[in-house]
Amino acid sequence: MTYESVIGLEVHTELATASKVFCGCPTTFGVPPNTQVCPICIGMPGVLPVLNKKALEYSIRTALTLNCDINEVTLFDRKNYYYPDLPKNYQISQNYRYLGVNGLLEIVVDGRSKRVGINNVHLEEDAGKLLHPSTASADYSLVDLNRTGLPLLEIVTEPDMRGIKEAQIFMMTLKNLLQYIEVSDCKMEEGSLRFEVNVSLRPQGQQAYGTKVEIKNLNSIKTALKAIEYEMRRQSRVLDEGNQVIQETRLWDDVEMVTRAMRSKERAHDYRYFPEPDLVEVRISKEWQEEIRRHLPELQDAKKRRFIEQYDLPEYDAQVLTSSKALANYYEECLRVYNVPKAISNWIMTEVLRELNERELEPDEFSVTPVHLASMVKMIDSGTISGKIGKTVFAEMVETGKMPDLIVQEKGLVQISDEKELAGIVAKVVAENPGPVSEFKKGRQKAIGFLVGQVMKLTKGKANPQLVNSLLREQLK
Ligand code: ADP
Ligand code: ZN
Ligand code: MG
Repeated sequence: MTYESVIGLEVHTELATASKVFCGCPTTFGVPPNTQVCPICIGMPGVLPVLNKKALEYSIRTALTLNCDINEVTLFDRKNYYYPDLPKNYQISQNYRYLGVNGLLEIVVDGRSKRVGINNVHLEEDAGKLLHPSTASADYSLVDLNRTGLPLLEIVTEPDMRGIKEAQIFMMTLKNLLQYIEVSDCKMEEGSLRFEVNVSLRPQGQQAYGTKVEIKNLNSIKTALKAIEYEMRRQSRVLDEGNQVIQETRLWDDVEMVTRAMRSKERAHDYRYFPEPDLVEVRISKEWQEEIRRHLPELQDAKKRRFIEQYDLPEYDAQVLTSSKALANYYEECLRVYNVPKAISNWIMTEVLRELNERELEPDEFSVTPVHLASMVKMIDSGTISGKIGKTVFAEMVETGKMPDLIVQEKGLVQISDEKELAGIVAKVVAENPGPVSEFKKGRQKAIGFLVGQVMKLTKGKANPQLVNSLLREQLK
């Protein structure tokens, strides 16, 4: 039987606030365990939470960007459960009145636009992190509560995606958008963006949805897609054998590359939600919403149009350069150092993107900073080095992070633009290559390329190509 897959996502994103959502603890990633905690976030008796206004503002910004209706009054609720990473034994979340509802995000699949419904957007606090020692003999786990109380925004989609490709494009579009509106750094390897996927199958043509399975423990988009793929295969096997899919939560096993049912103990949840008595209801005025809307950061389309206009770039360049906010920032930082938009764009669209993709790096993690790249392009334009040598310098910058002028100096790569010196080398090449020389004289323009190549070879690529070209033409007249 052929089945169609139905996919819905629950997305958790840590908001990029300076302090936690209900206390004043900082939110820096990667500091020593349990150094960013206070009596409030570790739930000591008698403490009171106070809502972080910035976290609320970022939540509203996200909800508005996702075209949600904002509830004028929003409430917090306690979600009760026991787990070692949750010292309070409850998580402050939203259950009865979400911050935003009825939204949608438009994605483009194979050139066609498709709308994915956003069921709701709600704000909650993150839990801590358990660390399980890798030694088999260890009979304990460690807990780091630095993450406890970080503002966590949950975005729940409708089951509107069909097939892996739509899920992938949705995840990438959403991540890109969250970065554009500057509410989260979305670093999946640091847990700032986490996807849980819900997958079900139905026979092709059937209206009613099948039974869904929820998959957790997915730490990258790639992993999420593998898990969906695996789950589609598993469920179609179950259905083909005439059995029923069991509604359950499964965990992705990154080593075996399979999903596994959670133990029943972990599955039995009854959260006994009730309104959080320590927080007041939150009223979100229309005026505040409008103010947040007015101050939305520049989104991709607007940036793209501005790049075309301000920098006189082809649409294609503008599209590529704005494909992520980080890349657009990288580009504009280059221009602050050396303002030749098209030359910089050419380097980014080829060499820079190739290296970033191969190394799976974000622009701000790249050893070639905007200052490196822009200084190098400037050296090419000013004739200090040739474009060809530029590629050598670039490769060296990627490996060592050294500044281009230092590399050029250390490796003796300065372009030879001395006319006398080059004329001598050109004369030698002309004398040694009578064949191509006579072909050129018979009118075969192409032969000159060979001769230029010979000069480049003799100068190890350092000759100024324009000068070589004109010297050759002069001597062959
Ligand atoms: P639950 O009651 O299990 O929490 P919800 O209706 O709240 O289920 O939906 C949770 C997530 O599961 C949402 O992202 C939703 O889009 C998705 N979902 C719901 N039904 C299905 C289905 N039949 N197939 C795939 N995903 C589904
Ligand atoms: Zn705290
Ligand atoms: Mg639900």
